[in-house]
Amino acid sequence: MLRTHLAELYLMSATDMFLDAQPQLDRAQLSIGYQFADFWGMAAACNSTETAGSIRVDVTITQKCLENLSADLDLDDESVNAFFEWRLNWLAWHEISHWFLGHIEFYRKMRWLSDVGLCEARMTGVRAAPVKPEDVRHPLAHVAELEADAFAVRRLFHLMSQIPQNDAEHGDAPGDDLQYCYYTVMTTICCFFADGQGLGDGPFHPSWQVRSLNVFTSLFGAYLERIGVDPKGLLGGDVSGLRHHASRFMDTGIQPVIDGIEYYARSLGIDQRIHGDDGDGLFAPGALLDVFTGVEDNAIVAQYLTLLRAHKDLVSRTRRARLRHGHDGEPAQIQTGPWKRPGLIGGSNS
Ligand SMILES: [Zn+2]
Repeated sequence: MLRTHLAELYLMSATDMFLDAQPQLDRAQLSIGYQFADFWGMAAACNSTETAGSIRVDVTITQKCLENLSADLDLDDESVNAFFEWRLNWLAWHEISHWFLGHIEFYRKMRWLSDVGLCEARMTGVRAAPVKPEDVRHPLAHVAELEADAFAVRRLFHLMSQIPQNDAEHGDAPGDDLQYCYYTVMTTICCFFADGQGLGDGPFHPSWQVRSLNVFTSLFGAYLERIGVDPKGLLGGDVSGLRHHASRFMDTGIQPVIDGIEYYARSLGIDQRIHGDDGDGLFAPGALLDVFTGVEDNAIVAQYLTLLRAHKDLVSRTRRARLRHGHDGEPAQIQTGPWKRPGLIGGSNS
């Protein structure tokens, strides 16, 4: 089947790109494999087995997820199936980062792993860790998802930045890369919510709104890096510089693709909460500025900032695994830039 065949191809190249970006990883010791599963109830999962001298990372992706990831694409047409490739790249990097950042070992310790490992989306039909009624949300699991999302967002934006623009008119304007990246990531995350059980949070996963906001801020951080702006220089009382960049980011990179994301969500039947008009799902500059400046007026922003504050805890609980995996020990920040106000989001290099 063309879909599965292309997926295999794209996932193998996603692995290569991941390994190329982490030259410290020993390719002889580490193997990353993919399986396609027939059952539904989750989109994808990641597991790992480590023995002396070898590490195996297993990524499982359901056929239903592959279908959703290509629902709007004619895979015979090479000019459009790039989105299938990019979605799979982002998904693969999200999954592999669960291993790389020590999440899987942390989950194992917490007895949160299901039969197939750390799962994306709902786990109906998949035997997962029992969740006690008094403990139905695991904030650090939510933080791990946000961290994996941010990791993969940055990698994808970086990849898109390296692809030369065909259209000379655009030069190296980052707007196009932002559009491709935002569209790709948001439509992929749609697939995690495509089982019709609503867009709220679950025991292990943040809500659609919180994930969206995290993608939004992570991408903004990557964008500032790309245009050579140090977010630190933007802070300190006056937010006009930040506001300027935020509105350029919105106008050139985000706004043009929001309709497309809504259209895609509608095709999966999950458009009920996705509209950006109320700043609830696809975010407006106001929410972005609130995150940066720590204003918690918006409930989603407040929830997001609470999770960011817990990030330090996840980093310290996974530090040993991260270092063992060849991660540089630097916290893989949920947001890219060091724009935190002291005491607000926690130390950046703790
Ligand atoms: Zn995940």
